[in-house]
Amino acid sequence: MQTVALSGPAVVSVRANVFDAADAGGSNEVSVVDTTGNMATAVQEFMARASKRLDVAEANVIISGGRGMGSPDNFVHLEAIADTIGAAVGASRAAVDTWEAIPHSMQVGQTGKTVNPNLYIAVGISGAIQHLAGMRSSKYIVAINKDADAPIFQHADYGIVATWEEALPVLQSTLSGMMA
Ligand SMILES: Cc1cc2nc3c(=O)[nH]c(=O)nc-3n(C[C@H](O)[C@H](O)[C@H](O)COP(=O)(O)OP(=O)(O)OC[C@H]3O[C@@H](n4cnc5c(N)ncnc54)[C@H](O)[C@@H]3O)c2cc1C
Repeated sequence: MQTVALSGPAVVSVRANVFDAADAGGSNEVSVVDTTGNMATAVQEFMARASKRLDVAEANVIISGGRGMGSPDNFVHLEAIADTIGAAVGASRAAVDTWEAIPHSMQVGQTGKTVNPNLYIAVGISGAIQHLAGMRSSKYIVAINKDADAPIFQHADYGIVATWEEALPVLQSTLSGMMA
């Protein structure tokens, strides 16, 4: 928490999900400033959208794949689950560095994006400190990894020791049933 004093016009933003919602009924005064017609704007740059999917930085639920996915083609299994539950698909740096088809815009971690979703599902991701730096503040972390000693399990709320080949079809059919 910080107290910030501003002496001129400023834009202040807070990363999503960093604070729990306050209880209703606080006594602080909130004033809404109407800036209609009083905005000086200029387009600095157009950036192509890297993906049609929800960006990891905006998503409430993220399912990420690591090098353990074996091939970028196998990310279709993550995408199918993401489409079922309205999640974004993320990736570890090893996945981004190894496979050209996985863009850097999907990378979560120290040199990727910092995310704070309600649910983060890490699939075939070992849990290196640089990956954790970008997602450890997620509300709930679920890890799927075939190695019971993978460090990601030390930070997961729920862990599934299995290959993704075993776990994802079960997850997909269970979630599809719940969403139907
Ligand atoms: C300066 C610096 C910055 C970095 N920044 C980042 C960053 O921003 N983000 C990031 O992610 N990393 C970053 N890294 C890299 C990081 O150190 C790790 O190398 C990387 O996170 C490992 O990715 P991974 O877990 O996908 O791969 P691996 O470490 O290779 O782990 C693969 C995991 O998949 C499991 N697995 C294998 N097959 C299966 C299967 N069939 N089913 C289920 N599980 C399976 C394995 O047991 C293993 O745990 C950075 C490194 C440095 C030095």
